[in-house]
Amino acid sequence: MSNAAAVTRMTDLSTQLIHHAYTPPAGFAAPQPGVFKASTVIFANVAAMRSTEWKDKSGYTYGLHGTPTSFMLEERLCTLEGGLQCLLLPSGLAAIANVALALLKTGDEVLIPDNAYGPNKTLADGELKDWGITHRFYDPMDPSDLAAKISPKTRLVWLEAAGSVTLEFPDLLEQARICRSRGVISALDNTWGAGLAFQPFDLEPGTATGLGVDISVHALTKYPSGGGDVLMGSVITRDPGLHMRLKLCHMRLGLGVAANDVEAVLRSLPSLELRYQAHDHAARALARWCTQRPEFAQVLHPALVSSPGHGHWQALCGGASGGAAGLLSVIFHERYRQSQVDAFCDALRYFKLGYSWGGPMSLVVPYELAAMRLAWPAHLAHGILVRFSVGLEAVSDLQSDLEQALGALA
Ligand SMILES: *Cc1c(COP(=O)(O)O)cnc(C)c1O
Repeated sequence: MSNAAAVTRMTDLSTQLIHHAYTPPAGFAAPQPGVFKASTVIFANVAAMRSTEWKDKSGYTYGLHGTPTSFMLEERLCTLEGGLQCLLLPSGLAAIANVALALLKTGDEVLIPDNAYGPNKTLADGELKDWGITHRFYDPMDPSDLAAKISPKTRLVWLEAAGSVTLEFPDLLEQARICRSRGVISALDNTWGAGLAFQPFDLEPGTATGLGVDISVHALTKYPSGGGDVLMGSVITRDPGLHMRLKLCHMRLGLGVAANDVEAVLRSLPSLELRYQAHDHAARALARWCTQRPEFAQVLHPALVSSPGHGHWQALCGGASGGAAGLLSVIFHERYRQSQVDAFCDALRYFKLGYSWGGPMSLVVPYELAAMRLAWPAHLAHGILVRFSVGLEAVSDLQSDLEQALGALA
């Protein structure tokens, strides 16, 4: 007796609905892949249950360990960033934490650039410190400072290009070279570059070594999501052994992502490059306009010749396939008080007050830089800093918005 016949003879409605015999015809094709949702995964028999491996993509064991939907996103992200293995996490910060927790133990030290994404520094100063893992902040614009701070205790070096909020562009190639020569694992927060501005695993394209970082962390929350409505992160590697260390920690911590969120990112990925270019062009135009305004002491955007590290950006991302994301920061002249700058932010109509970036809506955040850095960097003017995330609105509308809001400074 066939399985289907057995099911149709059941009298209990609930049982029939749970064990329904109908299977739709195979071969459905559409532009977007189907979405598989599961905690439980069904095995054909006990032998399959015992033998199915969760550590590679050879089969399915439990929703937390992967579905066709999550595997598909992992592979597409590997293509985007030029890596070979990928882990998905519930946020960009969770991806950062996974790297730290997998690679550091009591007595180890992690080095973090002074302009790193703030919560990365906070994690080091919180849980990591409590667990006897020390950290030091290094000058992102001075590779010799990084070299000097690497000690026998150093197990992990974070890199970030461009730096969060202040957007200095470091000599990433030299930093990666230092980490490689000292035998320390390098992990890049690649959210800004997004796999588009430069190739994290191939910082010297066309050379024999193709030197790159060991780990690329990406807050998919930003450009890959593109909607301001999804939180997700990824950890990408090229080395299978390193990937397995990260994956075992990922598994033990129970970190997973929701299928609906994966679907949203899969839906946004095809337009990633076009959106990134649009954000990039708009941010460059507004950055140039800002340099003409007397209210600003400094405009920070890596593509501006006057911006710290512009030469490094030019060398790594300045070619035809490069990019510069959609962020810019301004430092107001010292004559402006906090209340005036706050009034400017409040007067903006299209730039909304809110954290994060990468979505269609332009955003603005005033920062207290003094509290974020070891000391006020010599390459930055003194004054109140405001960061803009440029969305996909018309550049002329955004420029008019900035112009009218500057009137609120008076
Ligand atoms: C936003 C961001 C993160 C964290 O991403 P979440 O998904 O918000 O946790 C990490 N690094 C950088 C550079 C970011 O901008």
